[in-house]
Formats: sequence, structure tokens, C-alpha cells
Amino acid sequence: MERLRTLPGDDVRQIMWRFADRYDLQMVVQSSRSVARTTAARLVADGARNTHEWTPEKAELLKAFDASGLTGMFMEPEQGGFLAGPKNLAMCLVAFELSWVDGGAATCNLATDLALAPIHERGTQEQKDYYMSKCVPPQPGEDREVWRGAFALTEPLPYVGVDTGVVSGKVRIDEWKEGEEPMLQVEKRGRFITNMAFANFVTAAVNTDDERIKSSCMVILEEGDEGTYDPGAPTLKMVHQLSATNDPVLSLKVPASRIIGGYTVQDGMIVPNYSHGEIIAAVFQRTRIPVGVMTSAKLLSAVEPVIRYQRGRFRGGESKPGTPRYELGLQQNEDANHRLLDVWSTGESMASLGFAAGRMADDFDPIEKEKERIFAEQEIKGPRAQMKALKPKEQDAIEMIQLRAKPEGDRDQARLDALEADPLVQYSYLSAMSNVYIPACKLWNTGYGCQMMREAVAMMGGYGITEDCPGFLGQKWMDAQLEATYEGPEVVQRRQLALSMTGPVFAAQLTAWIDELRLHAQETPGRGHCTLATAFELWAWTVEHLQSAKDPEGKPLMHGRRQGVTFALADALAWLVAVKCFMDDVDELAEKGPMNAVVAEGLDALVDFFGDMATWQAARAAGEAGRVAADLVFGYILHPDCAGECCSADAAGNLFEGAEAFYALRRKVDAAVAGARLAKDRAAADLTKVMIPEALDYPL
Ligand SMILES: Cc1cc2nc3c(=O)[nH]c(=O)nc-3n(C[C@H](O)[C@H](O)[C@H](O)COP(=O)(O)OP(=O)(O)OC[C@H]3O[C@@H](n4cnc5c(N)ncnc54)[C@H](O)[C@@H]3O)c2cc1C
Repeated sequence: MERLRTLPGDDVRQIMWRFADRYDLQMVVQSSRSVARTTAARLVADGARNTHEWTPEKAELLKAFDASGLTGMFMEPEQGGFLAGPKNLAMCLVAFELSWVDGGAATCNLATDLALAPIHERGTQEQKDYYMSKCVPPQPGEDREVWRGAFALTEPLPYVGVDTGVVSGKVRIDEWKEGEEPMLQVEKRGRFITNMAFANFVTAAVNTDDERIKSSCMVILEEGDEGTYDPGAPTLKMVHQLSATNDPVLSLKVPASRIIGGYTVQDGMIVPNYSHGEIIAAVFQRTRIPVGVMTSAKLLSAVEPVIRYQRGRFRGGESKPGTPRYELGLQQNEDANHRLLDVWSTGESMASLGFAAGRMADDFDPIEKEKERIFAEQEIKGPRAQMKALKPKEQDAIEMIQLRAKPEGDRDQARLDALEADPLVQYSYLSAMSNVYIPACKLWNTGYGCQMMREAVAMMGGYGITEDCPGFLGQKWMDAQLEATYEGPEVVQRRQLALSMTGPVFAAQLTAWIDELRLHAQETPGRGHCTLATAFELWAWTVEHLQSAKDPEGKPLMHGRRQGVTFALADALAWLVAVKCFMDDVDELAEKGPMNAVVAEGLDALVDFFGDMATWQAARAAGEAGRVAADLVFGYILHPDCAGECCSADAAGNLFEGAEAFYALRRKVDAAVAGARLAKDRAAADLTKVMIPEALDYPL
């Protein structure tokens, strides 16, 4: 039977990550790749990461971004950009390509977009037009500098971090002359602020320090404003050195029109239209996705150099061409292949989850704008009032999910069409789903990805931790930890996931997924669908059980303060959702691949390989979910006096009501893993035969 011939190329990725019909995005990929594999790779190879300072050599990156079109990608065509509409998927693709070589270069590219994001999400039209056009490189005939921005939320200890409930930067009214615009005095000290070495403006989160300013807000600070605009000392970081990070000191006088999203004056008081927390929530909703995608690129980029290293391990010694030792090197050993497969299948699931989240954010952007428009029209203001108004739409969203899950002939199509055409129903659906996908992506991709990066480095032996390790793997390992840290470390994601994973809309979707996966399992057996369906069932059962379970003191287990329970469930869910996205992408490839001449050749082999990888990854995820479920279900029951018998199945069955149902599900999960190791063996064997290019296509 034919098996995998080459590593998956661009045509395959375009189908899996759903941009085969987007020529504009394919061009963006090419531009980013050329910057990554020339300017960025040369900087890393030449040791630019060995200094904390922002040097002229590093600044070449900015010029390369400008020249390749990446700087202007975030802007709308009328602001000087070239991509119309939502750009989350585009940003993910750029992040993927750049961090394939260097995560710092990717961050450097994204940081101005992060600075602009508060303006993009909640700014007034004037603010949007002004700052976006300043940040676009000059067009032919124009003579001006490109503006770069920095985003300042994080503050010196004890306020470091992205817990938006605490912010110590302050804003007060400096001068407010009758009939004139108020002037504000802003005090903000930042810590770990990306781009600050060269930023011309900063979007800063500040709290009110004046009884005439109603709430916190975000303000735009410019280099030329009156007062102190001190970029501060560079951070002595060991990661992402191709981005600039500083601890700025900002003490500036600015007009009130710099409040992002504007303000109204009510009873002699400035009332910002958006608090800093509202703006930051909208910003991070989107910008956390490319960070997760960055880590996925690290794992996938490790596959080729590791194979090359493993195969060549014993060449040049006694072994002769044609002998297994010469041809396969370390790949003669099962473990070498199995471990690389773990890295690869993790990387695939991470990328699939990241790009799915990116696409979802693209769908969400216009819907969110429409929701804002409708609420403005109906004068429904503030998060609470909006939530109340949206509550009935939740039921509609659930109905929509249930109708979609029915076969076309069996459902009320007119009702489904009506629900799908209602922007508030779509909003309800997409916000529930993206509130799971996005934190899961940031949490799992970066956190577990970082652990798997260690595996990739380990496969290179001592070479892995040297600077000349091909693919810069050692550096990528360390960089991954920063990706797990910034824009909210793991706990912040777990907190968000813990809130959203128990919502009714997501629960309805989960039920629909289980049915859909079972159907797929019948249609295309051997791709892990059944394993995943069963694992989802166990996870959902555990959530439901824990919602009424109590500890020996009678305290509820499913409670915001019990991070031991909710966070463990969040982690398990992230594993499962990631595999779901990978399986969706494999299914998409199997369906659409035959229509593409390049992909069609060898498609069956590729789908078999990915199917085996998905089966294996589903088994790993199911194992993880099963372990967490058992931990939580039994771990909070007082262990009866153990005389060696209490842990037998019979006795344990009595430990809580419903134990039999749990055991039945656990047994199902174990049984559903049947064949997963065989799938792993097959896919791992493919690694020994797959063709790779002679050399990496970027310098060492
Ligand atoms: C190189 C770099 C660049 C950065 N760029 C920017 C930037 O451009 N703009 C900006 O504003 N910020 C930036 N940051 C800041 C970054 O967002 C924060 O460092 C990050 O969010 C982590 O916050 P922290 O360092 O305060 O860690 P902490 O929040 O103190 O976290 C420390 C540990 O405690 C855990 N923890 C925190 N809170 C809880 C809780 N409630 N319950 C349980 N555990 C908890 C965390 O998960 C973590 O493991 C950057 C940071 C770095 C290192």
C-alpha cells in the first residue's frame, strides 16, 4: 500500500487551513516566508539574539516588514492597507511563517498591530483613520516615517500582568477650560513593553485618579506630547530577542480626545465610552490566537531537521550506503520515530486549533459589529444590559445547533435559515464557541507545546542545546515559554475556559459533535473519530457529575475558587478540542484534496498518514481526559479505611452514586483506544521513508 512520500506542502496546508481560495492570503504567506527565511534567519544565525539591546541590525527586520507588505497588512485598504475585511486568519498565517524561523521576529511584526488593536476594536473612526494611516509605510511619492506603536497594560510589580482588575497607571484632569477640550495628565509606568525601544505612540491602560473621570480607560500617548516619554531600560530577556522589550516611564499631558473610543460629558464628568477592561477583553479575544499559532509552527518546523539529524547520525563512520545504519541512522529505533510522531501530531493539532480559532474570529468580527450597531439602535448600553438582552438568543443558538446536526431532509430548513440569518443568534453562538477555542488555543498550544518542544530538542541530543542546532530548536524551546506567558499566562486562559466551558451553547455543540463524530466513525473508520466522541462523552459526564458533587465537608466541587477542579477540566478539554480541529482538517483534506491536481497525487497516502496520526493523538487526548476525570471524580472522596480492599472495582463502585455509569464510560474510553498504537506504528514507519530536501532552506 502506498504511504507518505513527502512532507505536506503548501497546497495541502491551504486546503487544511482553509485558504485555498484566498490568493491574497497565499501571497501574504509567501511574503512572510521570504522575510523569515532571509532577514530573520540571518539575524539569528549571526547571533543577533545575543544582545538585549535593539540594534541597527535588528531594526532591519522592520524595513523588511515594510518592504514585504507585512506592516500594512493590518490596515483597511482606505487606510493604506491591502487586505479588506477581518484579518485574524491572515495574522495567524504571518505569525506561523515568521515563527517557523523565529518567534521574536513574529512578535516584532505583531506588536504594532497589538498597539493598534485597542483603536481597531473600540476606537472612534477618527482615531482609527489617523493612527492606522500613520502606521502604513509611505506610498510612492510620500515622504514620512512609518509610525510604530506599543501596547502598555503590564506595570511594575506588584501590578505586573494581565489581570485587568488591577491597574495602577493613572489619569486625571490637568486643565478643563470652559467650552474647551479637557487636558489630561497621564502617569503610566510599563513593564515588559514590546516595541517600546522605537515606538512613536503607546496605547496605555490607566485607572481614574480624578472624581471628574468616571472610570478607567485606555489612552493614546505620543512621543511628542508634553512631559516625559522615556522608553526606559531594555528587559534582560533570554527569549524573543528579535523583538524589543523595555520598561517605559510615561508622564504626559494629552487632550481628552486621546481616550480610546471617546467619551461623553455628563454632569460635569468625563465618562469614557469604554473602560480599559472592556477594550482589553476585545483585544485579547483576537490577539491571543496568533501567539498559539506561533508555538505550533515551532513544533512543525522541528520535524524536518530532526529527521535529517536522525538519518545522518551514523554516516561518515563505519556504516556504508545501503545499510540500515547508514540509511536510517537513529530511525532504526522505534522510540526515535514514536517520539517524533508525538511532536508532529501535537504540532498538527495545535496548528489546526489555532487556524480554526483564527477563522472563527474572522466570522465573529462582522457579527460583533452588527451586534454593536443593533444595541446602539436599541439604546442597550453596557455589558450587563447587553447580556440580559442576549439571554433569549442563547436558546435560539442551541436550536440552531440542533437543527444543523439533523440530516438536511429531516429538519425545518426555513427555521434554520431564519436562525442563521439573525445576527444576535450568530453572536450568541460564536461568542460561546470562541470563548472556548481561543483560550484553549493559547493555553494548550503554548503550554503543552512548550513541553513537546523539549522533546524535539532532546531528539537532537547535545546538538539540540547548541547554537548551531539546525532549525534553532533550542532557542525555540525557550521562546515557547514566553509564548505561554505573555498576553496572559496559563492561569488566565484556564480561568476564561473554566467560565465558558460549562455554558449551555457550548454544551449543545458538544452533544452535536459527539453524534457527528460517531457518524464519521461509521463512514471513515480508523481515523480516531470514535475515540474522540467517547472521550468527549466522558468529559461531559464528568462536568455534569461534578456540578452537583461535594467534598467531605459538603463544599461544592465545581466552584470558581476550586481551581484544582475547574482548571484540570479546562486542560483536558483543550486536548480534546485540539484533536477535533485536527480531525476536521483531515476530513477537509480528504474531501477537497481530489479537486486539486497537485494534492490529488498521493492524497490517499497522505490522508492515511494524517488519519493514523489523528487516531494516535485522539488516544493520547482520551487518555488525558480519562486520567483527569478519574482524578476528579474519585480524588475528592474521602478514602475509606483501606485494608487493601476498598479500591477493588466492587468497593469503589459504592464510593459515589452513579459510579457504574462512570465505569461504563471509562471502559468505553479504554476500548475506543483499540488500534491506536498500531496506527502510531504505521505513521512512525512512514517517518523512516518520507523524502526530505537535502538541506534546510534557511541558514544555520
Ligand atoms: C518579553 C515580554 C514581552 C511582553 N510584552 C508586553 C507588552 O507589549 N505589553 C504588555 O502590556 N505586557 C507585555 N508583557 C507582559 C506579559 O503580558 C506578562 O508578563 C504576562 O501576562 C504574565 O504576567 P506576570 O509576568 O505578571 O505573571 P503573573 O501574573 O505574576 O504570573 C506568575 C504565575 O502565577 C500564576 N498566576 C497568576 N495569577 C494567578 C491566579 N489568579 N491564580 C493562580 N495562579 C495565578 C501564572 O499563571 C503564572 O504561572 C510582556 C512580557 C514579556 C516577558
